[in-house]
Amino acid sequence: MIRPVVRSCARPIHARFSAAALRHNHQVARRHAASAKLWSVVKANAYGHGLMRSALALADVADGFALVELENAIALRAAGIRQPILMLEGFYSAGELPLFAEHGLIPVLHDSWQVDAFCAAPLRAPMAVYLKLNIGMNRLGLNGTELDSVLAKLVASGRTETVTLMAHFADADSEAGIARPMARFRALSAGRHLPVSLANSAALLRFPDARGQWARPGIMLYGGSPCPDLQCAAGYDLQAVMTLGSEIIAVREIASGDQVGYGSTFTADRAMRIGVAACGYADGYPRHAGTGTPILVDGRRSRTIGRVSMDKLCVDLSDIPSAGIGTPVTLWGEGLPADEVAAAASTISYELFCALAPRVPVTEV
Ligand SMILES: *Cc1c(COP(=O)(O)O)cnc(C)c1O
Repeated sequence: MIRPVVRSCARPIHARFSAAALRHNHQVARRHAASAKLWSVVKANAYGHGLMRSALALADVADGFALVELENAIALRAAGIRQPILMLEGFYSAGELPLFAEHGLIPVLHDSWQVDAFCAAPLRAPMAVYLKLNIGMNRLGLNGTELDSVLAKLVASGRTETVTLMAHFADADSEAGIARPMARFRALSAGRHLPVSLANSAALLRFPDARGQWARPGIMLYGGSPCPDLQCAAGYDLQAVMTLGSEIIAVREIASGDQVGYGSTFTADRAMRIGVAACGYADGYPRHAGTGTPILVDGRRSRTIGRVSMDKLCVDLSDIPSAGIGTPVTLWGEGLPADEVAAAASTISYELFCALAPRVPVTEV
């Protein structure tokens, strides 16, 4: 196969980004949310999918965007995003607050130091804020005992336009579910008549009770299952947004007893034909994915062989005689859920997506 000499990137690895799939998944979230609004979570470079291309793909359907990086929120404003923007960890120092006010960013106040800083900041106009409660995860959030005094302080400050109560579930994706934290949240919020925001993707898909006024789907927008142990992404009607592909760059026949790759972790028990695909851990493919991780070769399912190297991995071509140099492979995405590859590496699709390396060129389809 003759390749043009000048390409944007000579190495065959590439990620394809489907705006249509992202919009489809947003529509799925919309269906589950009923009348609740949706924060489209685009933190961490939109889970590795590219902040701008993701936000722009959703610009005409999203109710709002949520992230944690102030510079990226400001970049969204510069790109013309007019929707509300929620900063999921609030501000990291009081000095950021004027930028929140200038760009219309909503801080999540999760700790009393933030509440105090907010009340003391020189703000010209009242701002919307989220108040995050700890309902059992013991990560971020005010404890229930602080809630009365904090709300009183916020009201007295005259600086809040609206206060939304927010919480996050530790087990929305597993059998444990949300019954206990939900009971805790109800007890804390009862009688306050404040809007609430609770659900991540897993809770949005599994627990209609947790919809609140604003849900916060992240992974489901990108087509990953939030609970791969309980249901696959296709079962939720989610489509892959990112498809990571490459090509076979070498082929060899090996004999029974031959070994493959670093550490010689794989030994052939019969004569085999193997291929080398140009994708390794420096592209974001998980090194912990061992022999047997699923991979598509020209659309047909096969398995990886031996250890993943920095720039390549080996593939079993024994049953795919038509495969040779230049044959396309799919590492994950359309036709091969990232959740399956993640499971083979004892991780979750979130981590695979977020780890996509900057050296992998992304094209929009
Ligand atoms: C990342 C994040 C979400 C989105 O979670 P998913 O599991 O990706 O849907 C929701 N809420 C908060 C506070 C988050 O940090």
